[in-house]
Amino acid sequence: MFAIVDIETCGSSFAFQKGRIIDICILIHDGIQVIDKFSTLINPDCYISGFFTNISGITNEMVKGAPRFHEVAKEILAYTEGKLFVAHNSSFDYNFIKAEFASLGFTFRRDTLCTVRLSRKLMPGKKSYSLGNLCTELGIENKARHRAEGDAVATAELLDILLSIKAQSQQYKSTNLDAIMTTRIDNIKKYILKKLPEDCGVYYFQNKNDDIIYIGKSINMYSRAISHFNSDIKKSKAMLNDTYNVDYVVTGSELIALLLEAEEIKTHKPLYNRQRKADVFTHCIDTFVNEKGIHCFAIVPTDESENKLLAFTNYTSAREKLESWIDEHSLCTSYCGLTSEGSICFNHQIKKCLGICSDKETVEQYNARVRSILKEYRYTHPDFIVLDNGRQPNEKSFIYIQNHRYVGYGYLDESTQICSPEDIQSNLTSKKYYPDADDIIRAWIKQKKRQVLVLK
Ligand SMILES: [Zn+2]
Repeated sequence: MFAIVDIETCGSSFAFQKGRIIDICILIHDGIQVIDKFSTLINPDCYISGFFTNISGITNEMVKGAPRFHEVAKEILAYTEGKLFVAHNSSFDYNFIKAEFASLGFTFRRDTLCTVRLSRKLMPGKKSYSLGNLCTELGIENKARHRAEGDAVATAELLDILLSIKAQSQQYKSTNLDAIMTTRIDNIKKYILKKLPEDCGVYYFQNKNDDIIYIGKSINMYSRAISHFNSDIKKSKAMLNDTYNVDYVVTGSELIALLLEAEEIKTHKPLYNRQRKADVFTHCIDTFVNEKGIHCFAIVPTDESENKLLAFTNYTSAREKLESWIDEHSLCTSYCGLTSEGSICFNHQIKKCLGICSDKETVEQYNARVRSILKEYRYTHPDFIVLDNGRQPNEKSFIYIQNHRYVGYGYLDESTQICSPEDIQSNLTSKKYYPDADDIIRAWIKQKKRQVLVLK
């Protein structure tokens, strides 16, 4: 049984105070013919603007005495219950009605059939699938175009034609309507979900030519893939439209997944990943101790960096970061490379620098504040490993930091004892160095409150 529905509205989407349903018609179709009808104007309790009156011909005057949506809600439920909700461009009508019900605190849920999509399948190659154009081409008379009942009756006649085309089609006559409406995306979804495991790792969506178009990571790749398909974001839909295959690497460890994802995005630069993970780090904030024993900072080009604290993809972000430290920790611009050393900095004149530049505070007092910054952006130890889950139960993973830098990761048998770098060397996969890897590791250790294993 079909419930063929059409609505007229005074807004392009539901809004309680200004975009409501003003006209609805539901025709009950038993597969052969229309057997029942529900049709009424609805008082939207809001103003119908001239724009929408021009579309439907429905004026504020006409709906004045009509029932409110909540007064006909019960009938709408009864008429559509247990039937396939059919409409021309069904998502508009369905979502609008769903939103009206939601505003009453009720969840409206029906299976839907869109006659635009069904027409595209059964009558391919038309230049327009608007109801008006299809009616003209198929000789369907619409006595009240853009009124709910007129359009619903026309949609019912269109459905009759579509059902008879289906019955005569070699390709579709023994296929049910559901299967006809199944799109390529539905099929690729099934395929991807079948392939991806419920494991932690990195996955790659590929297009027709096997190019990688998206890289993602998750502690449960299967669930993450489902959320891609449930997304309403336009870009996600475009991505899935382009997706033909999926590949993945199980990492077991969330930290390795994060590191691998960041690295792979830089290597493959997939079309649908935001390119925020830029791979050219042009400037660094270096740290050093000067001849007076003062902890200093300086912004330097990456190739001149000798003791990097942080790396940046441009000078401006390095400068912004350094200035935020100067502000928050009352540092002296002279010892941050922004004013020449030996002069009293401007910040001291406006009382923002506590006066290391004019001997108003001791080196020790000043250094203590710098050390609190260093602590935040440096590993506590120069050489250590972080242990995490492996890819299977009897395995563990490690990531290796050598001389304050991320070197790579690997997997070991669960029982392996690790005391020195030699113990992991043969299992280590070395990785190209990107400074943001250290940010990822530091943030992860902090967030998970993870203990590290210091190597001597
Ligand atoms: Zn100063």
